[in-house]
Amino acid sequence: MSIKSTILGFPRMGSDRQLKKLVEGFWSGKVTEQELAEGSKQLRADHWALQASYGLTEVPVGDFSYYDHVLDAAFAAGIIPERYQQVDNAGTQAYFAMGRGLQNKSIGIDVPSLEMKKWFDTNYHYMVPEVADNQTFNLHSTKVVDEYKEAKALGYAARPVVLGPVSLLALSKTAKGSSTKPLEHLAGLLPVYVELFGQLAAAGAEWVQVDEPVLSLDLDAAVYQAAFVQAYTELAQVSGLKYLLTSYFGRLGDNLSWAATLPVHGIHLDLVRGSADLDAALELIPTDKVISAGLINGRNIWKANLDKQLATLTKIVSARQSAAPVWVSSSCSLLHSPHSLKPEVGHLDEETLGWLSFAEEKVEEITILAAAIADRESVAEQLQRNAANVLSRQQSERITRPAVQQRLAALDESSYTRQAAFNVRQAVQRDTLKLPLFPTTTIGSFPQTAEVRKARAQFRKGALSQEEYLQFLDVETRKCIEWQDEAGLDVLVHGEFERTDMVEFFGEHLEGFVFTKRGWVQSYGSRCVKPPVIFGDVSRPHAMTVDVAKFAQSCSPNKPVKGMLTGPVTILQWSFVRDDQPRSQTAGQIALAIRDEVVDLEAAGIRVIQVDEPAIREGLPLRKADYEAYLKWSVDVFRLATTGVRNETQIHTHFCYSDFNEIFTAIKSLDADVITIENSKSDLKLLGALEVHGYAAEIGPGLYDIHSPRVPSVEEMAARFAALQKYIPAENLWANPDCGLKTRGWPEVKESLTNLVAVAVAARKAHAA
Ligand SMILES: [Zn+2]
Repeated sequence: MSIKSTILGFPRMGSDRQLKKLVEGFWSGKVTEQELAEGSKQLRADHWALQASYGLTEVPVGDFSYYDHVLDAAFAAGIIPERYQQVDNAGTQAYFAMGRGLQNKSIGIDVPSLEMKKWFDTNYHYMVPEVADNQTFNLHSTKVVDEYKEAKALGYAARPVVLGPVSLLALSKTAKGSSTKPLEHLAGLLPVYVELFGQLAAAGAEWVQVDEPVLSLDLDAAVYQAAFVQAYTELAQVSGLKYLLTSYFGRLGDNLSWAATLPVHGIHLDLVRGSADLDAALELIPTDKVISAGLINGRNIWKANLDKQLATLTKIVSARQSAAPVWVSSSCSLLHSPHSLKPEVGHLDEETLGWLSFAEEKVEEITILAAAIADRESVAEQLQRNAANVLSRQQSERITRPAVQQRLAALDESSYTRQAAFNVRQAVQRDTLKLPLFPTTTIGSFPQTAEVRKARAQFRKGALSQEEYLQFLDVETRKCIEWQDEAGLDVLVHGEFERTDMVEFFGEHLEGFVFTKRGWVQSYGSRCVKPPVIFGDVSRPHAMTVDVAKFAQSCSPNKPVKGMLTGPVTILQWSFVRDDQPRSQTAGQIALAIRDEVVDLEAAGIRVIQVDEPAIREGLPLRKADYEAYLKWSVDVFRLATTGVRNETQIHTHFCYSDFNEIFTAIKSLDADVITIENSKSDLKLLGALEVHGYAAEIGPGLYDIHSPRVPSVEEMAARFAALQKYIPAENLWANPDCGLKTRGWPEVKESLTNLVAVAVAARKAHAA
């Protein structure tokens, strides 16, 4: 028997990030719209050819996007807020304006972008469509139809991919000044989908992959079941078209029972993260529906264990003998995997290469599974090679470090607890640090100027020697410390001129990490990140930041300089993580490495140490039922990293958000001495949370928004600071910006921080009076 092999989507950027170059060239006027269109067409053709070269039966189309697939879906349905409609007759420029804003003084346009949000629990971000009370819908773009025709003309069996109507609305927000919930507009939106799908059918499409990833979330069944029934009953009227209802990123769980019976022709299951659904799915999905088995992980970079996945596939195929066909596919779109391993040959060692699988290799894995169902012998060699690679990873001595594992296993409660409770520590720290009331500080980074980036690039190329580079950094650090001291800040930072990124720096210094050459994945728009790969037990062969911190402290004899570290959850969250042990265990190993660094910093005379955990909230699982376990271990690893110090040492942490309600208890349990948070955009939310949950430790809600170059006046920050004093006891309140200053320029940083110090000084006077 032969089964269909396919994937849910392919990375868009190209093997060498060609798409990034095209769209950024278009934005800067160096690439014409026609060149952008032609370059993109070529990329799509290349990607389909690559997929077909491995024998994939059917290629996805419409998964390509200039910027973001949610933006594409909104744009296609005419969900274009009025402020963008004036731009370029709601054409390509308007599309990009929705993605990234547009400031063009010569034509009098200044519009910010739509809001950006994390795509479920991935590190990809989508643009949030805005639906107004008087929203109308129309088929504004036939992009997916055009791309279908493109693939068909090239001779490919193709399946259009469309974000489904329920998910599109569920992921949208109510426009400012409106009150209806987006989902209430479903009836108005559906005719656009009927029209679009009619065009796809007319163009010859047989199947459409309708992505409804909200099915992996906790849904109000009464509301959503009705919406799905309404939507798919109406879509079923388009004659000649079959729908693959597609969800991913987790189990369907309690949504499965009703989703299984919707009037669609096939259901995709994410059997990597949602494998717990399988038995129920085999029972509940009617036999006339196709099952698409998502067996190859689209979100990680490890080679699949093909024998194991083949066993699952065989189980499904035999359970569905007389039923509709079974397909084999990726768990989710391969958008979240790097493009291909080929550029890594010669960069990574042979052994590591054998453990990895990027998008191109995942396509091959899927075709091997499909071929094995038809005739196992035909792929015996590939299966054997895979088994050898899997075994090599299980047995490699580079992966397992018994000393690390034993140390983690031997920890007891004392390794997770400070010597004394917060109030005792606070008194001791007051005596030793001698900070004024309303201490002022910054979050860590100072402007990474062109000069700083140039020096780093030259050092990496070998044009600057290590000694010259370190000297350059010392000069920059000293200037930065001296300026902060003069400006009157109380707790200083070294400025982080040696770091590109808050995870990469630590990954480069720790054992158990490797860095790829071109392992780029799209983060948002044209922005790509190259996450480190955590392949083995993590350990710290040498101190990472102690020299820099000691030097910085030596530049400031009178004021404390903060040691700056990234926390274990954030390092985990922003890396490709091993799948052969629980995430919590990997995070525990990273925490031990950070703990050693914290203790070494203290021993080197650093009295204030900040451990940043911006990713704690973004690591929240998709289902509420999984929150507790996650928050328990993420709090534990932070405490493991930070509790090895004396009472005198002040532990800070920073969060790039203040919308804490869901995780406030966890934030309190971190037992940090000081937290600094983003607050400038959402005062009420924060103050509400502080009031409801109570917060006893010291806190620095950001006094101004660093994401904008504008300089906040003394008056506006003073007003904000006065408001904060109503909720936070004076002795616990800090004054600081809301995030790091890396992306800002020196002139506005100096002016803003001078104003901030003035606010604190005036508040001290007022308080003493
Ligand atoms: Zn931040």
